[in-house]
Amino acid sequence: THFGYENVSKEEKTKRVHEVFTKVAEKYDVMNDAMSLGIHRIWKDYFMQKLTPMPGTKLLDVAGGTGLIRVILANSKKMKNLESWPQNPTEAEGDTSSSDEEGDSHHVTVCDINKNMLDVGQKRAAQRGLMEGISWVEGNAEELPFDSDSMDAYTIAFGIRNVTRVQKALDEAYRVLKPGGRFMCLEFSEVKNPLVKNAYDLYSFQVIPALGQILAGDWNSYQYLIESIRKFPPQEEFAYMIEEAGFACVTVENLSGGIAAIHSGFKL
Ligand code: SAM
Repeated sequence: THFGYENVSKEEKTKRVHEVFTKVAEKYDVMNDAMSLGIHRIWKDYFMQKLTPMPGTKLLDVAGGTGLIRVILANSKKMKNLESWPQNPTEAEGDTSSSDEEGDSHHVTVCDINKNMLDVGQKRAAQRGLMEGISWVEGNAEELPFDSDSMDAYTIAFGIRNVTRVQKALDEAYRVLKPGGRFMCLEFSEVKNPLVKNAYDLYSFQVIPALGQILAGDWNSYQYLIESIRKFPPQEEFAYMIEEAGFACVTVENLSGGIAAIHSGFKL
């Protein structure tokens, strides 16, 4: 069942990741809540607070899947300000000379390689009345369908470990960001605290696939999720890869003893 990284070919990994997320799309949010006891919401909320997007920010959320990041954004106080942003800030300031050709109605672009995940995300956003201001784009993190120097911020939450060529995705993040733009990644990481590590190992290897079986009738997909976490590079190595892509001021912050980590970097 090992297909997180080295035991299968790159093509096979891409195919299997696609199959996993096609299968889990409908149950993804419920399972996330059940498996993380809701903690992933706290991490995501904190992640967005750290970013504090300013009015007019063009935010690209890659591997956005069901778009939960956006839902949390919308529920946060900051998002309320964002929702009340003028549709076209330049016009609102009385300067119509440089109005954005694409229209500024979409501040957040959710991009995911899997249409099923995007469809579920769109459905959830519509149920919450959050369609305005988001565009949903099917696309590969390794070959983003966006212009160079076009985004102010790039976020990726629990997505990068599923990407087949991680360095390529980081290079693409760098390409699409404007100079001064910020890269932020939230991902499961290496647990540094030994006490947390023992409990976490027991929980993730034994409980999570079982929960996947009970709640979603799908042991293997959740087994994959755990394996992919174990095979992802630890904090320091991943930080180095971000620097390799060209980012400066790269920082790492561990969450919950390293169960997850936030990596951040700037395109200067
Ligand atoms: N960001 C969301 C969240 O935090 O709830 C969803 C994370 S989900 C674990 C991982 C997502 O990565 C899936 O929706 C999957 O389709 C997407 N994904 C995997 N490989 C990708 C790629 N190469 N490019 C874009 N998205 C990808």
